Amino acid sequence: MGKIKQMDETLANQIAAGEIVERPASVVKELVENAIDAGSTDIVILLKEAGIQQIIVSDNGEGMDESDLEMAFLPHATSKIFRLSDLQRIHSLGFRGEALASIGSVAKVRIESTLKESADKGHFIEVEGSSLSNKGITKAKSGTTVIVDSLFYNTPARLKHLSSTKTELKHILNFIQDTSMAHPEIRFQLTNNDQRIFLAYGNGDLRQTIANVYQPQLAREMIAIQNEDNDFNLEGFISPPSITRTSRQYIHWLVNHRPIKSNLLTQVLIKAYGKQLMIGRYPIAVIHIHLDPRLVDVNVHPNKQTVRFSKEEELAQLITETIQKQLMQLNPVPKAAFNE
Ligand code: ADP
Ligand code: MG
Repeated sequence: MGKIKQMDETLANQIAAGEIVERPASVVKELVENAIDAGSTDIVILLKEAGIQQIIVSDNGEGMDESDLEMAFLPHATSKIFRLSDLQRIHSLGFRGEALASIGSVAKVRIESTLKESADKGHFIEVEGSSLSNKGITKAKSGTTVIVDSLFYNTPARLKHLSSTKTELKHILNFIQDTSMAHPEIRFQLTNNDQRIFLAYGNGDLRQTIANVYQPQLAREMIAIQNEDNDFNLEGFISPPSITRTSRQYIHWLVNHRPIKSNLLTQVLIKAYGKQLMIGRYPIAVIHIHLDPRLVDVNVHPNKQTVRFSKEEELAQLITETIQKQLMQLNPVPKAAFNE
């Protein structure tokens, strides 16, 4: 007998889960992304103890039937891509088919779902440590509800390394706020221990969503931007140079409705403001970039927050031009300056 053995599925899932499910916010992220991919317009997130005790995400999306519910927990099971070339035109937030398998391996999970067409009854399934523990029929209720209890109950090292509930809650709030700005057309409600901590109305108006995330006064003063070239379409809001913050965390990039982190684009934005910003001060910005999915690679990291653009320089140029034009209108250089 040789020494090598193939891992059983539970162990393999738990190891893979390490990459995907780092903390309660990662569970919230995966569940909310699934709700968005299911075409939901109303998403409710209920937490107990910042999600450490319980996370419930309810949506009004397309739902799943009985057989999908069982498939959903299998590793690499997805309805979003079927071949490698699908990745090039990906419009969904998910595609790896790993989230539910990973969450199901490190928590106790119950999913209730009613398929849109068969509104007379729904189904539920319960999974604990990767194994199916129960399934059956429920009352029909629009969409899907996922209940995640006792996160990391079987991986004590992960549980021990969680931060305070305050910090864990902050991670979740940041994610939901970013996502609401990525999807102004979706209503989001976030509650912790029965206390509402965030609500985005979902009326489709990005300025309104910025008012929900920051203060209404700030949202009123933000300047609308819009521009496009052959490959990119930019739209969103930037703050006038008189309104700044001491951190870059108020600069939000949304690429085809996916919140991403980009030092490069943030640098480009700051540079476009130039001397109008004092040292150590940063603008506030919420900028949507729409482009052909073939021009961006989102499969760089499992959390999909880092992306690679194929026409990076062209995009940087468009952002610079758009911001500078807008700031110029705000504060035109006096004519005399050219005459001297
Ligand atoms: P992925 O999102 O990468 O496909 P997941 O493990 O997150 O993988 O989900 C597996 C599948 O379960 C999805 O492809 C989708 O078909 C289905 N699913 C998960 N959550 C929902 C939901 N809230 N509403 C409808 N279908 C869902
Ligand atoms: Mg998913």
